[in-house]
Amino acid sequence: MKSICEIYKIGNGPSSSHTMGPQKAALFVKNKFMGADEFKVILYGSLAFTGKGHLTDIAISRALEPLKSTIIYDTVTPCTIHPNTMDFIAYKEGKIVGNQRVYSIGGGEIRIEGEIQNITPEIYPHNSFGEIAEYCKKNDLTLPKYIEKFEKPDYKKYLSEVWDAMEAAIREGLSKSGDLPGPLKIRRNARNLYYKRILNEAAEITEDRLVCAYAYAVAETNASSGTIVTAPTCGSSGVLPAVLKYSKTRNHLTKKEIIDALAVAGLIGTIIKTNASISGADCGCQAEIGSACAMAAAAAATIENLGIDQTEYAAEIALEHHLGLTCDPVMGIVQIPCIERNAVAAMRAINAKILASLLIGSRKISLDMVIKTMYETGKDINIGYRETGNSGLAKLYK
Ligand code: SF4
Repeated sequence: MKSICEIYKIGNGPSSSHTMGPQKAALFVKNKFMGADEFKVILYGSLAFTGKGHLTDIAISRALEPLKSTIIYDTVTPCTIHPNTMDFIAYKEGKIVGNQRVYSIGGGEIRIEGEIQNITPEIYPHNSFGEIAEYCKKNDLTLPKYIEKFEKPDYKKYLSEVWDAMEAAIREGLSKSGDLPGPLKIRRNARNLYYKRILNEAAEITEDRLVCAYAYAVAETNASSGTIVTAPTCGSSGVLPAVLKYSKTRNHLTKKEIIDALAVAGLIGTIIKTNASISGADCGCQAEIGSACAMAAAAAATIENLGIDQTEYAAEIALEHHLGLTCDPVMGIVQIPCIERNAVAAMRAINAKILASLLIGSRKISLDMVIKTMYETGKDINIGYRETGNSGLAKLYK
């Protein structure tokens, strides 16, 4: 399994697969075809259906600047290899000088057809939670200690930057008011939730509101193309920071404790990415928000010093109860249902952790089993519900 750091990418929203990935692809082809003076870019599958709403065209055009680019949305040609496929055709003085197919495979990562590059090394000897848990128990290791044993030397420094970026995204979201950019004219809610919480005297409502305010803050920062951290994607980037910030405020956590929690969350996200998918276009929203919720539940369990079995149980509950969740962003924009969904998942992660701490010893389902189920369910979900913006809420919304 690869480094847990790969799951966390600091960059601009609103979508890891629809803006970060295509932007990276555009920079790659610009560099590959240096003599070109113009590009035609054909988007297929989910990129074609929701590319406009996700600002894919802007991300690509900006990356190719100052060269001219024309974006074509091909919603007819089926994608046989990956639902997020792009063709870049390079021109010089009107003649084709090269072309390149690229797949945006989720979490901001790309696969370049015909190129053996960007292959980062596998640094963990295990690929499933079951194997990791067995190894830890045999060697008397906690999950943070297991990560420390196999991770690259500078991972704590990187996770520290990740946390700084997450907190900055929360601050930015809480500082803004008015409407979010885009035709839906959605009012920003983070600030409202945050300040109404302070006025409210009922402690339990106050706590719920705090988690939601943080989740909204990051999701709204993402929706306005601000800087966020994929956890594991842009669309689901509010869940983990909300749970961590809430825990930090409540438990006065040190940065070391936050980094341990981020590391364990990253381990869960990496196991899901290795064995299933973290892409909404691939497996629906269960792969994005469900994975984010599992990561956040494991982080919450780590903060509470729960053992390996309880941490697994918390992540398993969080993912299991997102199984089947479809991706149907209204107008193809990462706002409805995405923003609210981050807040719901953040609360669910905390509840999953509580349930896991109370019911340990009674579970029958492993995290690995749920991850496999999530992948198989994702492949069975009708294609319209996998980030096409053509089904569900996206179809009915007027
Ligand atoms: S519905 Fe879920 S998977 Fe789809 S764009 Fe929104 S957050 Fe991402």
